Amino acid sequence: MKLRFFGGVDTVTGSAHAVEVNGKQVLRDCGLYQGRRAEANRRNRSFAFDPQDLAAVVLSHAHIDHCGNLPSLAKAGYRGPIHTTTATVALCDVMLHDAAYIQEQDAAYLNQKTNRRGLPPIEPLYTAADADRVLKLLRGYHYGEGIEVVPGARLALLEAGHILGAALTVFDLEENGRRVRLGFAFDLGRHGLPLIRDPAPMRDIDTLVIESTYGSRRHPAPAEAGAQLRDVVRRTIERGGKVLIPSFALERAQEVLYHLARLTADGEIEETPVYVDSPMASAVTRIFERSTPYLDEEFHALRERIGRVITPSWVHFTASVEESKQITASDRPCIVIAASGMCEYGRILHHLKHGITNPRNTIVLVGFQAAHTLGRRLYDGDPEVRIFGDLFERKAEVVSLPAFSAHADREDLATYVQDAAPRRVFLVHGESEARSALAERLREIKGLEVFLPEPGDEVEL
Ligand SMILES: [Zn+2]
Repeated sequence: MKLRFFGGVDTVTGSAHAVEVNGKQVLRDCGLYQGRRAEANRRNRSFAFDPQDLAAVVLSHAHIDHCGNLPSLAKAGYRGPIHTTTATVALCDVMLHDAAYIQEQDAAYLNQKTNRRGLPPIEPLYTAADADRVLKLLRGYHYGEGIEVVPGARLALLEAGHILGAALTVFDLEENGRRVRLGFAFDLGRHGLPLIRDPAPMRDIDTLVIESTYGSRRHPAPAEAGAQLRDVVRRTIERGGKVLIPSFALERAQEVLYHLARLTADGEIEETPVYVDSPMASAVTRIFERSTPYLDEEFHALRERIGRVITPSWVHFTASVEESKQITASDRPCIVIAASGMCEYGRILHHLKHGITNPRNTIVLVGFQAAHTLGRRLYDGDPEVRIFGDLFERKAEVVSLPAFSAHADREDLATYVQDAAPRRVFLVHGESEARSALAERLREIKGLEVFLPEPGDEVEL
């Protein structure tokens, strides 16, 4: 029995690991590597394994860094099953079609440039047809169902508390009479996030593979997010401004809507028009509406009180670019939620272009802002920023709300490891400083062996 580390080991994107039992190989996640263009191309276009060798695939959740290279698997001829939750199946339909569209657009743009130089055309990493092909392979289950993935490997999907449908995976492996329980705890969420339930614990684990994204940080409690959002909305609306929220379309946008609905229902903020100006966020919100059995008690309690929680009458989902332009042109105080979460592309750029020089407005950062993005420049407090090539003086207030994080922090991770009680733990899905910091913390746990694997490593179970 073997465990292989292919991708998302010393970095947070491109997650891919494999388990081998009785000569059959099972891949866990097939994420898109995101980073500098040349390196991303190299990593995403050539797998560290042979797709023909895979007997099955298990998918943890619908974030692109975990599912985004599945269409390449189909393109390479993989036709086996992909086991995941029913909610992840629904979300992948939106996420992978969008990803394929981006790949096709990207290649078309580069080909316009290369045509001029007489170079051979660039093929997209994958197309909508590849996405369709791979979506047919997805099989949806509910948390807790036992699944025999290959002979000698039973899989359990556990609530991850990270995003809708996200699963932690436990494999009960058996080969030649030997048994091993192997747990993968990533992406691991947090206790008390709105909408979704808390992460389920793992028990009696032999070997645990766990993320270290925030292995060196502590987050404010999720419960603080609502109060922080309330204060920002109140003062912005009072001064006649707009609240502009760059947001990831999946999960974060729906969490913001949930908080706004609760604050409005409790009379903590006045009813204010909210515009969800992102076709993808609108599509994902519809999936949330259909997935209520996945949602937590707080969601159900609020629904009992007010009916529609994430689609109340004062939330408008804009479809056309014309509608979007009307919102940017209007001076009426309102709340706008638009993608992308790091202000790299999408309709949020138009809202920022029109709103950033107005000191009555507030830009609210509710997600991680990577280096070199516009979101990061706003986070860093740059007095001037470039949008669509033009320089703008940043006069709007900028607020960052880290309580919105959907990843376990250092102490959450340590507690999770302690409860799972493995003999050894492998730290992945983190940059080197975070991995080392978490390793140091975990080495305080008696009798636990802590490893920092490298991409390409293979260990005996
Ligand atoms: Zn994730």
